[in-house]
Amino acid sequence: MKQNKNQKRQLKLKKEKKRLETRRHESNRMIKIAKVPDFITCNECGGKAPQSTFEILNTKGMDGIEVAVTGICSDCKLPTIAVSGDPDATAELMMVLQDKMGGGQLGIEQRKLK
Ligand SMILES: [Zn+2]
Repeated sequence: MKQNKNQKRQLKLKKEKKRLETRRHESNRMIKIAKVPDFITCNECGGKAPQSTFEILNTKGMDGIEVAVTGICSDCKLPTIAVSGDPDATAELMMVLQDKMGGGQLGIEQRKLK
């Protein structure tokens, strides 16, 4: 009987370990997804905002947002934003950002990385 108890415990530990490993894999995946692109395509003129102008927005606590990046277009000098994540969440975030940055002048690129 004593041994049985031990075996059960070991099984439980094994399961727990597996669960933790799976979780680690998942977070690794998230980091990969959250990698920023080399450039953002400007929605105003179709130019490029290079990575050197990027500013990664703090999206912690925003449900469904994986990464949000602003960049300055090298052609028309207007700010452009790329957001990836859940479509509903990105749409909402864009509205907020557009409001913040003065509406119409903001080019937004919506990226779907999944
Ligand atoms: Zn542009």
